[in-house]
Amino acid sequence: MKKTKKLLVMAAAMALAACTLTACGGASSKGGDTLTFGTNAEFPPFEYVTSSGAIGEFDGIDMAIAKQIAEDNGQTAAIENMEFDSLLVALQNGQIDAVIAGMTATDERRETVDFSTPYYTATQVMIVKEDSDIATAADMADKKICVVQGYTGEVCVQDMGYSYEAFKKGTEAVMELTNGKCDVVVIDSATAQKYVGDNEGLKIVEDPSAFESEEYAIAVQKGNTELLDKINKSIDKMLADGTINELAVKYTEETTAE
Ligand code: GLN
Repeated sequence: MKKTKKLLVMAAAMALAACTLTACGGASSKGGDTLTFGTNAEFPPFEYVTSSGAIGEFDGIDMAIAKQIAEDNGQTAAIENMEFDSLLVALQNGQIDAVIAGMTATDERRETVDFSTPYYTATQVMIVKEDSDIATAADMADKKICVVQGYTGEVCVQDMGYSYEAFKKGTEAVMELTNGKCDVVVIDSATAQKYVGDNEGLKIVEDPSAFESEEYAIAVQKGNTELLDKINKSIDKMLADGTINELAVKYTEETTAE
């Protein structure tokens, strides 16, 4: 109890400090016309850089969702692209209004931010060479494991007690695998599909008993219920009318087509 209270007070103090530094909350909280989302555009089919995307050069399921949320509120969506590890800090600093980055709503993250209604269910999977003998998560015990830094995949492997190497980008981890320098990459399911489609000789191994399902949600500053309500309204609508489903199908096909 005490610890929670202390955390809340600290969060409130931090929010106040952020306000004085940034003239508070930026355009969105004043009903201005830009809603700024932070993302890490290295996570197809959810976010990636392309010549002409849903929001400027950024495209993917999340980008289309962000655009719609802004439009539903008479605003224009803007994207700040940064490292995945920096997103929650940028959110707390008020540099961005919300995070949309295929981000799993975990209890650990809930200590510092608030999450929207979940909009997508995923799970961690293992990408291995086609001839690999890895069939379950336990088979990774004596293998060289690659993960992406700060992703939930890293947390899973850590919790299993295995040693691993962490890379900044999913593409780097997969290259390590195709080059034969590691045996398995643990990463989110939809992104794994994309990488397996892009690279010859790889396959996906699932182990639902070892990897729990994860829910992607949008993060806002703790206590920003005004923005959270708006986001939830849009998400609820897009879930109910099938928009998110359609986007998932469309972008999964598009990014695995080439
Ligand atoms: N879902 C994973 C996480 O939240 C990976 C997200 C991402 O890479 N964008 O850590």
